[in-house]
Amino acid sequence: MKQIPINWQNIQTVFLDMDGTLLDLHFDNHFWLEHMPKRYAEKHGISNAEAHTDLLANYQKHKGTLKWYCLDHWQETLQMDIVNLKHEVAERIALREHVIEFLHYLQKLQKRVVLLTNAHNKTVDLKFSYIDMQQYFDRVITAHDIGLAKEQPGFWQALQKEERFDKNKSLFIDDNLEVLQAAERYGIKYLLAIQQPDSRKSIVDTGKYPALQSYTQIMSDL
Ligand SMILES: [Mg+2]
Repeated sequence: MKQIPINWQNIQTVFLDMDGTLLDLHFDNHFWLEHMPKRYAEKHGISNAEAHTDLLANYQKHKGTLKWYCLDHWQETLQMDIVNLKHEVAERIALREHVIEFLHYLQKLQKRVVLLTNAHNKTVDLKFSYIDMQQYFDRVITAHDIGLAKEQPGFWQALQKEERFDKNKSLFIDDNLEVLQAAERYGIKYLLAIQQPDSRKSIVDTGKYPALQSYTQIMSDL
């Protein structure tokens, strides 16, 4: 596997997305596209296919906004206990390969490591309760703390007020291309995408952003 050259000496802050970047997106895809429709169908006495159509129409309405990522919103709109439903399939929550090794590496390099996610705080808490990784972050910031989703205009300006960083000395890794584009527009210098956010789906075209296949590609012997 080819190394991706990273100028670590020039990097102070590393912003890391959670789902699809550090954690396998399989859980989230399974939850929203399979488990939710199944439980929704049971609740309303409709077929799985009908539930799927209903839910997808609902999801589409808010895609890319904070609401889409808001657990409370879905809890209220769908009248379903989302947190509890997530616990039901939690055995599917998993780290992507070499993530802990990479977080250790960042620690050794003494970088400031910030988890930067669109996920709702309750989802972050749930994932931390299954995956032992919270200790590696200097800070955890969710889009809900900022009031905007990462792909929305103004997100990075608002983040700058919350967490001081030098955009010329920041690395940001995310599996969402719209999110990376917003970061690029703001001027984040080092950007990396994820080649296969969901381990059970095929690899994705990350366009102009270097696609990280494995974290070993950006680690070298210390
Ligand atoms: Mg993601």
